[in-house]
Formats: sequence, structure tokens, C-alpha cells
Amino acid sequence: METIRWSEWLPGFGGSLVTAEHPDYESLRRVWNGMIDRRPAVIARCRSVPDVQAALALARKEKVVVAIRGGAHNVAGNATVDGGMVLDLSPMKAITVDAARRRASAGPGVTWAELDSATHPHGLAVTGGLISSTGIGGFTLGGGIGWLMRKHGLTADNLVSAELVTAEGRVLQVDEGQHPDLFWALRGGGGNFGIVTRFDYQLHPVQRVLGGLTLYPASRAGVILRYFRELTEHAPDELTLLFAANTAPPAPFVPEPLRLKPAVAIVACWSGDLAEGERVLKPLHAFGPPAADVVGPMPYPALQSMLDGGAPPGLQNYWKGAYLGALSDAAIDTVVEHAARMRSPMCQVHLHQLGGAVARVAEDATAFAHRKAAFAMNIIGMWPEPGLAAAATHTAWAREFFEAMTPHTTGGVYVNFLGDEGPDRVKAAYGPRTYARLQEVKRSLDPDNVFRLNQNIRPRD
Ligand SMILES: Cc1cc2nc3c(=O)[nH]c(=O)nc-3n(C[C@H](O)[C@H](O)[C@H](O)COP(=O)(O)OP(=O)(O)OC[C@H]3O[C@@H](n4cnc5c(N)ncnc54)[C@H](O)[C@@H]3O)c2cc1C
Repeated sequence: METIRWSEWLPGFGGSLVTAEHPDYESLRRVWNGMIDRRPAVIARCRSVPDVQAALALARKEKVVVAIRGGAHNVAGNATVDGGMVLDLSPMKAITVDAARRRASAGPGVTWAELDSATHPHGLAVTGGLISSTGIGGFTLGGGIGWLMRKHGLTADNLVSAELVTAEGRVLQVDEGQHPDLFWALRGGGGNFGIVTRFDYQLHPVQRVLGGLTLYPASRAGVILRYFRELTEHAPDELTLLFAANTAPPAPFVPEPLRLKPAVAIVACWSGDLAEGERVLKPLHAFGPPAADVVGPMPYPALQSMLDGGAPPGLQNYWKGAYLGALSDAAIDTVVEHAARMRSPMCQVHLHQLGGAVARVAEDATAFAHRKAAFAMNIIGMWPEPGLAAAATHTAWAREFFEAMTPHTTGGVYVNFLGDEGPDRVKAAYGPRTYARLQEVKRSLDPDNVFRLNQNIRPRD
């Protein structure tokens, strides 16, 4: 087979084509999940919409598989591909904020740290994720679970319009009025329909929040998880809570005896009147009492990056996600039992509280279908040692945990917590009706499944 000489192609392409000989190839081919070790034939670093069109046309002409890369945090590793083209959007970092209209537009290479730092000086924000290095691209297209969601909705609920390059290379402006089916699909359906080159968000007044965490020894996990359940039952929309089972960091705020020991945490974000928040969160400071308590007023971006240390790039990751309709006593006992079997200090279990504004959007209004779930669970297998032996240990932990939890879940899963788990799990992320509707949109825009390196909506069963 004739080798493609990538550097000779693409006249007029304003980005750069990086192949294995390039000094930056090794770093540019890496994604957040260190377990993904792929060698693309070429990385097309795009700076503009014409660059995206040119790179896509080239990949189609040469019949190579295209992987779309935004922030590269997708745990399944869909942002890279062996032997194909990585269409790298990460250099596309333009951000504009229209404070008067409470709108922000962002390029597909922007991370949450970058968008938050652009909107925060205006006292504005849109729902973003727990870890500030995550890209807005894959995050928004999958839904977007974050600290502001119970008050202001998912990130996708705040997407007001987008610009997209289709599989054929056409540029579409997409919103409720223009290409409404595609707009519906973009809000939860992932990167299946085209390459989004601009995200336009509705912003909300968010300046300082009351946020942080209370930490407890893992020996109290059952009691604390029941307390977490009780808190979530009464939480106003301004409050979003997360339960985490993890290992206490060796940080100054953690008492010496608990450092690097198994622990559980309740992480909170109050995005409303601070005095009212102090009143609502007062019991949290007293219950237990916590071994460490770092809940207080802080700028919103500080909360958005507070947990960054627990998710460094390059570690090995294997995740299992599921939605829970409720936290029964049996579910709590299962979480406690399996969390205690973590075999790496980097492993974690998260229970994200949903509800509020997320649940008030109709299930068929966007492609994010599981609106009524009470919690999104993420079993995070994370460990530093590469190699099959360590992987076997930690993936077995996550799988056994997941299987034990299955009777307590809805059967659905958040698409952005999915690994490479096969077509049935993708269907579970949407449910039959939403999946069928996504298939219709896919058939009309990408019948050849050019965009298939994702949680794939197959044009045909
Ligand atoms: C450390 C960490 C923390 C996380 N925290 C949260 C959280 O708090 N809440 C939450 O909801 N999720 C969270 N996630 C999951 C996150 O939403 C997904 O990993 C998401 O895919 C990240 O987007 P990205 O742009 O960084 O990913 P990438 O790996 O770059 O992209 C993933 C896929 O999305 C598609 N895609 C990306 N950009 C575009 C685009 N512009 N046009 C078309 N398709 C595109 C492509 O199919 C691509 O393969 C977290 C993930 C990690 C690793």
C-alpha cells in the first residue's frame, strides 16, 4: 500500500500537520487517560474553520478514520486513533463574552479553566465540570454535569447555538430555529453529527459561591452516605452535592492521622445568597463532626479547580458509570462495601446529585434523556502503574463494584462516563426513543458514519 506523505498535502491549511517524525508528536498524541496509547498517522492541528474543513476533506479523500480532539479528557480515548487522523481542535481557543447579553462564545479547544477565567471577571458563569482541565467540547456535547446544574441546568441546557462542520464539509449555524433536529441532537448526543467549531452559551450571574468539602474517615462511610442522602432530599436548587469515597490527600487541611488513609467526603456548591447558604449548610459543619471542613465562600473558579489534584493527566483510568433512581439502604451498603476494596489511592467513587433544573427539562427536549435520575454514579478506577497486571487488579475492582450496584441502578448511564463498552451501553445512555431519534439525525447528516470514533450512534442497526 502506498504511504501517504501527509506533509505534501493541504495547500492553504493554516494549521500544522504533525507526523511521527515531528519533535512534538509524542506529547501531542497523548490523551488524558494514560491507558490509551495510540499512534495516529497524522495530527491535524487546526486553527480555523477552513483548517477543519481542509483536514476533514483530506481524511475523507485518503479514507482514514478521523478522531476529533477537544480537551482530550474522554476516558474511552475517542480523541485519538491508531493509523488515522486526529483532527485536533485544541488550538482553537477564541473566547468572547457579551456581558450585557450574558452570552459567551468559545472555540472547541477551550477548557473549563479558560472559559471560567474569561466569564468570571464579569460575574458570570455557565455550568462546567469538576476538573478545570476538561475540554468544553466533548463535555457540552455529552450533557455536562457540574456544580451549577441544579440551579442553571446542564451545560447542554445552556447551549443556545453552535457552528458545525458537517461530514461533507458544509458549515452550519445551528440553534432552535435553524436545523432544530441537529440542535436537539447536539445537546447530549456527543460528537456524532459533525465538528462543532463554536459553542455559544447562556451565562448566569455567579460570582462567589459557598463551596468546598467536609471529610470523614472511611470507617464512617455508611453513616455519612445516609446523611448525604438526607441532605439531598431537602436541598434547594442553589445547592449541588457530591459524595466521594477516596483517599484523604496529604494536604495541610487534613489532620495528620487521616492523610493518605481511606476517607469519604461531601463536596458542596451553594450558588445563591451567601448568608442563606451559610444557614442551609450549617448542619453540614456540625454533623459527625467532620475530620476536616473546608467549606466557605470562594470565587466560583476556585471551586472549579479545587479537585484538580485528584485527576492528573497520564494515569491509567478505567471507569464504570450508572444512574441511580434513589439511594436505598442496600445501595449504600454496597457502595460502602466495595469502596473499601479500592486497591489504589487514586481510585474514587462519585455520586453526583442531580434533580433541580436538570429534572425540570422535558426528557425529549434534548438528547440528554435521563432527566429523572436522582444520582449519577462514577466508579473511577485510577492508578499510576502501566501494564496488564495492575490493570487487571483495578478493572476487576471497578467491574465487581459495578455489577454489585447494578440492581440498584436505573440501567442508564451518562454518556460522558462511558468507556469503550460496546453498542448496548451506548443505547443505555439514551434509551430506545432518544437513540432512535438520534439515529434519524445521524442518517441525515452522516450516513457513512464518518464520525464514528465516539459513543457511536450507528446510522443503521
Ligand atoms: C478528569 C475528568 C473530570 C471530568 N469531570 C466531569 C464532570 O464534572 N462532569 C461531566 O459531565 N463530565 C466530566 N468528565 C467527563 C467529560 O465530560 C468527558 O471526558 C468529555 O468527553 C471531555 O471533553 P473533552 O473535549 O475534554 O474530550 P475529548 O476527548 O477531546 O473529546 C471526546 C469526544 O467528544 C467529541 N468532541 C469533542 N469536541 C468536539 C467538537 N468540537 N465537535 C464534535 N465532537 C467533539 C468527539 O467525539 C471526541 O472524541 C470528566 C472527565 C475527566 C477526565
